[in-house]
Amino acid sequence: MSTEHRFDTNAVHAGQEPDETTGAVIPPVHFSTTYAQDGIGGLRAGYEYARAGNPTRTALETQLAAIEGGARALSFASGLAAEDALLRALLRPGDEVLMGNDVYGGTYRLLARVLGPWGVQLRVTDLSDPAAVDAALAERTPKIVWVETPSNPLLRVTDIRSLADKAHAAGALVVVDNTFASPALQRPIALGADVVVHSTTKYLGGHSDVVGGALVFADAALAEQPQFLQFAAGAVSGPLDAWLTTRGIKTLAVRMERHSSNGQAVAEFLEGHDRVARVYYPGLPSHPGHEIAASQMAGFGGIVSLALADAAAARRFAESTRLFMLAESLGGVESLVNYPDEMTHASVRGTELAVPAEVVRLSVGIEHIEDLLADLEQALKGL
Ligand SMILES: *Cc1c(COP(=O)(O)O)cnc(C)c1O
Repeated sequence: MSTEHRFDTNAVHAGQEPDETTGAVIPPVHFSTTYAQDGIGGLRAGYEYARAGNPTRTALETQLAAIEGGARALSFASGLAAEDALLRALLRPGDEVLMGNDVYGGTYRLLARVLGPWGVQLRVTDLSDPAAVDAALAERTPKIVWVETPSNPLLRVTDIRSLADKAHAAGALVVVDNTFASPALQRPIALGADVVVHSTTKYLGGHSDVVGGALVFADAALAEQPQFLQFAAGAVSGPLDAWLTTRGIKTLAVRMERHSSNGQAVAEFLEGHDRVARVYYPGLPSHPGHEIAASQMAGFGGIVSLALADAAAARRFAESTRLFMLAESLGGVESLVNYPDEMTHASVRGTELAVPAEVVRLSVGIEHIEDLLADLEQALKGL
């Protein structure tokens, strides 16, 4: 399926063959924890016990590998569970991760506060700056280079192909957190990444009703240790969660088109507004990463950050939108507003990853654009 068809078709069909016994077009959700054996070890379809494997999870993993253009995908209970399995499978005490200085706060927390005490080293730099990448790699070779592009919440853009070439030349693996763009807009494996990480809680699920995470591997051999850890430590996605994520992915291509067109319109509106100090959106020609984003992405997505005059104005703005609900998370069909410094990025306050206190992040949903702009206008007018 993945090689024969294009993205939108794979998103709908990969891993979704009709049920063999009934012909049901939507494959059933398999809740069984265990599988009857025809004699000891006589497994009918390779399934034995649901932590090791479950057909609904297999269907999602097949779909994920197809849409990211990977050889193998693994599905987990959350984005951070996926990251944890990957890092623990690949790293040993003393190994180092070189990470972008603008990543999801929870990723930093996992490395700094959970894996750090087990001897994993962490170094942070601006990976969107080629000179900073050269300097960091010349100093020491990390085991893993971990990048988010566009990044959360400042939408920094990194040239994935160039970063992958440099990291590979130095002997490091490249992991790309593709949560913000989603594979509808950006496919890091085709640009040289070794592993793609997702919080499927966001755009892939797409409806703010299921938490999940995924790893997609360029090379199936690299998936072996993380797959063993998925089985041995057990942070798998449950069947209903896997099924909801699969259902979400089927509409990903059309949702991302609307997220991107609404995101662009919101960014342009904010850039022209006198109460807004700065807009962060890769679709704006004023964005420093605009050209790279235009070359490696098929659209600029639905996340728009903005800086107001100061922290007080940012807090007031975040508390006065009506349609944009004040909530954590992103990537659902409904628009959300978030104040990173005290919400999603509270865990990196006071660290080298701290988000400026005047910044607000919008997750622009798929509502009618005029309703969204009117809501932003009334909130800005009240400042
Ligand atoms: C939300 C998020 C994560 C963590 O995923 P969970 O599903 O919340 O565990 C990782 N990376 C990015 C970019 C995210 O937005």
